[in-house]
Amino acid sequence: MPVKQAEFFVSNSDPAKCPKPDRPEYAFIGRSNVGKSSLINMLTGRTSLAKISGKPGKTQLINHFVIDNEWYLVDLPGYGYAQVSKTDREKFAALIDGYLTGRPNLLCIFVLVDSRIEPQKIDLDFMYNLGEKGLPFVIVFTKTEKLGPAKLQATLDTYRAKLLEYWEEAPQIFVTSAVTAAGREEILSFIRPLNQA
Ligand code: GDP
Repeated sequence: MPVKQAEFFVSNSDPAKCPKPDRPEYAFIGRSNVGKSSLINMLTGRTSLAKISGKPGKTQLINHFVIDNEWYLVDLPGYGYAQVSKTDREKFAALIDGYLTGRPNLLCIFVLVDSRIEPQKIDLDFMYNLGEKGLPFVIVFTKTEKLGPAKLQATLDTYRAKLLEYWEEAPQIFVTSAVTAAGREEILSFIRPLNQA
């Protein structure tokens, strides 16, 4: 079932000022330029709910959207942008950490990875930290229409093998494309039952 209603709620740079945790919440995060804004727009069926920027590393805000008056979709800033200072990187880490550990209603974190790029330490470390904190997450492969089926399968196999170096069981992976809308139903069907639980 497609999303009926998607509304911007609030942006802020202080995790303490996030909305009351009165709805189930799902956060989206990944390296700058991974395709996060495009994925959010694809999932919600909107063309410009999240801002697609040609300029990586721009969003440094926590953006809450209300979906179908039922759950929060949270667009977190992209990480791993090379051209930021150490101070900015530390500020960023504090922002994300403050958010992730301060939301009792956060039911799942969607960690986006670009399917065309081999497993990156920064992504795996981020996931590892989530695991250490006991925060539930899944992985979203983006831009997968760029790969043929054989290449996609090989990429998935490589990624799973890498994940198994960290975990006994590989986290769930969603295969998506903002161009073809692949993965939309799978992600929405994953979210909806969690909302009811
Ligand atoms: P963000 O920085 O993570 O929010 O990434 P954006 O959504 O702004 O996308 C970064 C770039 O990747 C843009 O040029 C998008 O058009 C492109 N992009 C995003 N998703 C896809 C996709 O599914 N397929 C392809 N081919 N390009 C994509």
